[in-house]
Amino acid sequence: VSGCEAESSHDGPPVQETVATGAHAEHFGGRLVLVTGAASGIGRATTLAFARAGARVVAVDRDAGGAARTADTARLIGAAAAWSETADVSDEQAMEKLAEKVASEYGTVDVLVNNAGIGLSGSFLETTSEDWRNVLDVNLWGVIHGCRIFGGQMADRGQGGHIVNIASAAAYQPSRALPAYSTSKAAVLMLSECLRAELAEKSIGVTAICPGFVNTPITSTARFAGADEADEARLRKRATRLYALRNYPPEKVADAILRAVVHNRAVVPVTAEARGSRLLSRFSPGT
Ligand code: NAD
Repeated sequence: VSGCEAESSHDGPPVQETVATGAHAEHFGGRLVLVTGAASGIGRATTLAFARAGARVVAVDRDAGGAARTADTARLIGAAAAWSETADVSDEQAMEKLAEKVASEYGTVDVLVNNAGIGLSGSFLETTSEDWRNVLDVNLWGVIHGCRIFGGQMADRGQGGHIVNIASAAAYQPSRALPAYSTSKAAVLMLSECLRAELAEKSIGVTAICPGFVNTPITSTARFAGADEADEARLRKRATRLYALRNYPPEKVADAILRAVVHNRAVVPVTAEARGSRLLSRFSPGT
């Protein structure tokens, strides 16, 4: 693991003595891991997987109560320490403030997981500029802010680290139903590959994770561009049924994330749909 073998320059509260029993405890025990979108779905499962491995975890979400619940659970299952923070990842100033607080109170982040994201369905012509802005603000700008601010801190510290960006199979599988979402995720995939090339010399790994359908509450909050209320209810029900039918648990994505960090992988497709695409090879030479 690039950065995870480095000693953390942690000067925050004392690290609790725990016996971590989860997978990869030898890699993540005592490391500082920050996960965005940690209140729900993949972000919550990932925070808890790092907690089981004995990491010190920071659960970040715009949903303060949800982030606090994730941190509470993390503490119970073996995290060396767990905190929750409230931030909107699309708000650059809020992310700067978050980074300052984390650095001064908990230490430099060893592993950052840029996971927060929102869903948006609807044809290109039905998607309004406001819809485009919303989805790009969270799914793309949120990742840019995280990579630039926390990646900058890791680079300054000079002891390596790892950044995981949650993209999607939608990043390389064109779809008439998801033009804005897919574009945001394709950008995340490309920025991850560019950043990986840049940060390799600083021993900072960068991984893009590309899940297909994962059974999380994302369909309950996704927007359906161009749909009236009745249409939206019908489309939401259909999407929720589809995701539930695939029945792929977020915990398996979390496992893939921990493994990807340990093995410093560049692009990791998760779920059969994501792995099955011939188009993946265009974006991930050699992975
Ligand atoms: P989810 O809705 O269960 O969780 C998303 C979390 O992000 C929520 O807790 C939400 O409050 C938080 N969030 C949203 N906008 C935020 C913002 N601006 N600032 C801070 N927090 C914010 O969804 P999920 O399925 O767990 O999705 C997690 C990531 O995985 C997203 O980036 C999503 O695009 C990606 N993804 C999901 C699937 C899937 O099938 N579920 C597939 C591919 C990729």
